[in-house]
Amino acid sequence: MEPFIYTQNPSRVIFGSGTLKQLPDELKRQSLSKPLLLSTPEQVSQAQKLESLLTGVTVAGTFSQATMHTPAEVTEKALEFLKAVGADSLVSIGGGSTIGLGKALSIRTGLPHICIPTTYAGSEMTPILGETAAGVKKTRSDPKIIPGTVVYDVDLTMTLPVGMSCTSGVNAIAHAVEALYATNANPVTSMLALEGIRSLATALPQVVASPQSPEARQLALYGAWLCSACLGTVGMSLHHKLCHTIGGSFNLPHAQTHTIVLPHALAYNFPKLKPDVQKRLGDAFPESNGDPVRGLNVLLEKLDVERALKAYGMKEEDIDKAADLAVANPYANPRKVVRDEIREVIRRAWAGEPAK
Ligand code: NAD
Repeated sequence: MEPFIYTQNPSRVIFGSGTLKQLPDELKRQSLSKPLLLSTPEQVSQAQKLESLLTGVTVAGTFSQATMHTPAEVTEKALEFLKAVGADSLVSIGGGSTIGLGKALSIRTGLPHICIPTTYAGSEMTPILGETAAGVKKTRSDPKIIPGTVVYDVDLTMTLPVGMSCTSGVNAIAHAVEALYATNANPVTSMLALEGIRSLATALPQVVASPQSPEARQLALYGAWLCSACLGTVGMSLHHKLCHTIGGSFNLPHAQTHTIVLPHALAYNFPKLKPDVQKRLGDAFPESNGDPVRGLNVLLEKLDVERALKAYGMKEEDIDKAADLAVANPYANPRKVVRDEIREVIRRAWAGEPAK
């Protein structure tokens, strides 16, 4: 075994069905009594349900304007509200957008942040915060950004539409795939990654077949947690770089972009992976016959997801711009990032052609 460094992130995880009910005890455990609840406008009803469960707790208020990419103006507005109501903690209920707002407020105020994820995107276990100001998205990493407690309640994921469940789940798988070949990969994170991929690749087709299946939803959320832990402990490579630059520059939807790009990024890197990583990755996908690109393609076909970036409005002339952006700054990747080869990867993803 090669030497390694593993950083254990400090989050406390509460997982199961009906776990939302444990929030009052969790607040009490941390001597918190006046939380500010955060949600998107679309999830106000879940925030209201949460408030109704918080008997014996003074809810400072609910701020329900969380927005994709954490725009600075929304954070400023929430910050003013937070100060006006005198909150002593933050509780975010939602996907990556709401959790992003919770992180932005927590890092600015030092208030404890309890997170209740309702998608599979995986922001909850990471020290990463992406924020947008004047149209530019900047990402920073700081251990203080990691939410202290994460409450996974499977019941909340029942309302996640099937299409969003599929793309959000593949978004999570992407974290685990890249964790396996990170420069700081380590046996613990790799174990989480393989179990995360196996869980989601098994659960997502079951969610499609039976969206209200508690077993399928539980396995999917369990996999999402493991993949989120991977994102939080090791560095990401080509796939995340492509999604960040393409998604940010051409305003493409987050989870859908990850879903389209992943087979192409994996096909590009696969020949340069260590043989044991190739084998373990192949074994993690059902019906792969040892080839994870094939396994991923089989999965995406079953999930019946969109495969072409052009369907989300990316233009053919954007391909060159995307390729330039993808190679503008050097970053760790198992295979050398060559501009013309990356252009072909992006072109295939744009056109919806098979990965190779
Ligand atoms: P999202 O949070 O934007 O949610 C998408 C929509 O689905 C919203 O309208 C939301 O209210 C709704 N929704 C969420 N859960 C639902 C549920 N259970 N039932 C019904 N509706 C539900 O989407 P996302 O993909 O979770 O997050 C994307 C954002 O998160 C991006 O900005 C991305 O950059 C960020 N992100 C950050 C990290 C990180 O580590 N910092 C990791 C992953 C994603």
